[in-house]
Amino acid sequence: VFTSAYFTMTEQEAVEYAKTRLNFFAPDADLECREIGDGNLNYVFKLTDHKYHKSLIIKQAGPVARISDEFKLSPDRNRIEYEILDLQNKLAPGFVPKVFNYDPIMNCTAMEDLSDYTIMRTALMQHKKFPLFADHITTFMVNTLLLTSDVVLVHKEKKELVQKFTNPELCGISEDLVFTEPFYDCPRNEVFEGTREFAKKEIWEDSKMQLETAKLKFDFMNHAQSLLHGDLHTGSIFVKEDSTKVIDPEFAFYGPAGYDVGNVIANLIFAYVNAKYTISEDESRADQLGYLKNTMEDIIDLFKKKFLQAWDEKATEQTARYEGFKEYYLDTVLRDTAAAAGLELCRRIIGLASVKDVTSIEEYSSRAAAEKICLSAGKMFIMDRESFKSGADFVRVLGDCE
Ligand code: ADP
Ligand code: MG
Ligand code: MG
Ligand code: MG
Repeated sequence: VFTSAYFTMTEQEAVEYAKTRLNFFAPDADLECREIGDGNLNYVFKLTDHKYHKSLIIKQAGPVARISDEFKLSPDRNRIEYEILDLQNKLAPGFVPKVFNYDPIMNCTAMEDLSDYTIMRTALMQHKKFPLFADHITTFMVNTLLLTSDVVLVHKEKKELVQKFTNPELCGISEDLVFTEPFYDCPRNEVFEGTREFAKKEIWEDSKMQLETAKLKFDFMNHAQSLLHGDLHTGSIFVKEDSTKVIDPEFAFYGPAGYDVGNVIANLIFAYVNAKYTISEDESRADQLGYLKNTMEDIIDLFKKKFLQAWDEKATEQTARYEGFKEYYLDTVLRDTAAAAGLELCRRIIGLASVKDVTSIEEYSSRAAAEKICLSAGKMFIMDRESFKSGADFVRVLGDCE
């Protein structure tokens, strides 16, 4: 049944699939399956063997998005996800789940079960702290971004990767949802009533802002710099105290390196406004806000340090060794980081895909205040993007918006 034509599996069919198509569980395993997907696009089956205490995840791409069947997507995106996880396992070992099998007929990938981790967005909404996160995520980003660029790769190999990871459908989603719809009064936007007036005045009626988003959109479409994760928000990151794993790279393609870094920063700002408006006790609120600010600052500063170090150790391109070039290049990545943070801040507030950190703020005026901080910060990041050079520069924006 699983070898001729694609269909979306039920839990029972996923058990059958594992038994007949994968060499993972013992023949006499006692298998149970639950579909645990909470994302927008795919089905995630968790299989547990109660007899030998093993478990496995099977992620299957569906033919339409779960949030809206307006998005019809080729399930071949599962191939991209498998191939990129396989590559990231080599570039940044230990920072992504291990992959065991890819099935081009059923459009599914079998991978390591990370159920002993927590999704970072959830953990941050419980106001937990992960002191090693900045160190981990910057290693992941430098290794996946710099090591896939022309600075390090043989140019022919890099161009082959650009071709292999052309991802037109999912890029199309980002081009619409991130770069276009949030910046005009698009019917598909989902704008909180307490925010509409501010969005109208500060974003939709600001033609200078629209001009900048057009430049950024064309840069996203035309600047094949690094192999991006492409969807690096805190819902794509699993954390526990001593370890960080990045999942869900189906949006991967060659784009501006700062896109991933900026997404991480913006999502920490969503956690920041959540903490600001939902922790009632002064001391623990200040503590959590301090932790989040330090983490943002560390991410930028550690990213810079590791990026320059990896450049010195791994650059193969001759002109990359010219004096001043790596600093020039890093400056452009920081500029693109600020821009991407700004886009993510705006699009999660105004656009179709919102984030729980913000929508779960129950009190009307608190949510409006939180959304206003995100939009003001977003606008500054986009408009002043050339001026962001250090972690302190990124964190300062919060002070200016509160
Ligand atoms: P989507 O592309 O639909 O967003 P994700 O890859 O983000 O799918 O997975 C959705 C959810 O499934 C995650 O939030 C997580 O709870 C669970 N999940 C995904 N991959 C794993 C894994 N390897 N181990 C454990 N749980 C996982
Ligand atoms: Mg996801
Ligand atoms: Mg909204
Ligand atoms: Mg996804």
